[in-house]
Amino acid sequence: MDTHQAKKDVTVGILALQGAFAEHQVALQKLSCQKKVVIVLVRVADDLARCDALIIPGGESTTIALLARLAGLLEPLRLFLKKKPVWGTCAGAILLAQAVENTKKGGQELLGGMSVTVARNGWGSQVESFEAPLLVDGLRDPDQSFTGVFIRAPVVLSLSPSPEDPPLEIIARLPAGLLPRSQTLVSPDEDDTDPRDPRTIVAIRQGRHMLTTFHPELTKDSRFHEYFVRACVLPSLSP
Ligand code: GLN
Repeated sequence: MDTHQAKKDVTVGILALQGAFAEHQVALQKLSCQKKVVIVLVRVADDLARCDALIIPGGESTTIALLARLAGLLEPLRLFLKKKPVWGTCAGAILLAQAVENTKKGGQELLGGMSVTVARNGWGSQVESFEAPLLVDGLRDPDQSFTGVFIRAPVVLSLSPSPEDPPLEIIARLPAGLLPRSQTLVSPDEDDTDPRDPRTIVAIRQGRHMLTTFHPELTKDSRFHEYFVRACVLPSLSP
């Protein structure tokens, strides 16, 4: 490999088995950062081996896990997570959780990597999709809200880091009072305006990993992609 090239480029993989991987590709192509971002659509272990970081898109987490198993990618993905940055959006966030509730019958295979418990399809069946303006301090132009697109999104139920895990950093929450009402999550007499409620958490970083329960790739705003590369990927590259 040309070492000069290797230093100038950063290779970001997108797991391309199912779901919104093409949209992530478009968002990454728009980025301008201090290194050239080379994009790899990951379908087999050899693709993953070329990557400095990985994005797991939204889609259907059970299908992605099944296809990853069939492609022989589950164990390579788990090993990758131990060393390199991974960002999961929506279904991808479910796969990064250490535990998930409301799984399909027969349970659900996870990759783990983040000390978070989520509920799959946690906003209930009537309110499957919604948009919410998010104010996110860590993004470029933090005064401009980021449109969070939530589609059958998971809900964060709890954070449970053990002392040896990197700390969890909450990057974004739903504005207080915007918790969608669903039979399972918010009953009419429950206070849904408590800003500390874990269900309001929609983006988290833990060490080199990140999850967003919404779909930044379905907007034209690539500030979350920029954030992932700047805050998680570039610092993890060996000098
Ligand atoms: N509910 C889906 C799942 O369980 C996730 C939805 C999405 O990624 N938009 O995987």
